[in-house]
Amino acid sequence: MPELPEVETTRRGIEPLLSGRRVMSVNIREPRLRWPVTAELARALPGQAVRGVTRRAKFLLLEFPAGHLILHLGMSGSLRVVSGNLPPEKHDHLDLLMDDGRVLRFRDPRRFGAALWTTGDPLAHPLLKGLGPEPLEDQFNAEWLHVRSRSRRVAVKSFLMNSRIVAGVGNIYASEALYLAGIHPGRPAGRISLERYRSLVSAVRAVLEDAIAAGGTTLRDFVDSDGNPGYFSRKLRVYGRQDEACHRCGTPVRSRVIGQRSTYFCPRCQH
Ligand SMILES: [Zn+2]
Repeated sequence: MPELPEVETTRRGIEPLLSGRRVMSVNIREPRLRWPVTAELARALPGQAVRGVTRRAKFLLLEFPAGHLILHLGMSGSLRVVSGNLPPEKHDHLDLLMDDGRVLRFRDPRRFGAALWTTGDPLAHPLLKGLGPEPLEDQFNAEWLHVRSRSRRVAVKSFLMNSRIVAGVGNIYASEALYLAGIHPGRPAGRISLERYRSLVSAVRAVLEDAIAAGGTTLRDFVDSDGNPGYFSRKLRVYGRQDEACHRCGTPVRSRVIGQRSTYFCPRCQH
């Protein structure tokens, strides 16, 4: 599943190719994504030039003079800028043909993604308005987590994955950050000290920044290529490594379901 680093890598990959380019036409081959892709999109976009591509949590926002196209990659989505001559494949559900002959192509085999047009403030859109701060921005800090977690018994991993607390920290990077910070994922959020939240905030930033940096090596894959989406292989410390030795102490990594999500941790290094 694309997490925040993949979405940010996508943004960096497509932004320079789309900025300033005008949409010539929109081809909706399959409107049944998580929410229907409306014909309004096909009417609104042609003739408008892309002003920029920004990201909020795991949403990408294509800014146009008359509004925003909100894109979400869902479970399996990818965006690429390809030659208009490249025939679409089975799961290529949406094309935006640009004035340079290239196409922004949205592929999504599982169809949990989204492509929504809004003319209002995109940050006030129902999908985005309740989101907490971005994990890589200053508003996300130890004090923020500490104040909001007092008297909460929820597991710290679930707390960290609550998008009202911080936007876009998904399952993989929550496990990774808690491992790096040495915090047991099942510990009640309200019982973690300010000092340990400082370590956790640094760890969240480190794992996301590492992954974004790794993604930078794949940026060329967003252009004129028909391979797999530009998702990079992740070098994970603990996620998905059940029964394998902890890199730090050699203890077998354990897996447990917390908040209905698979969670990986070292029982010795994380307490
Ligand atoms: Zn360990």
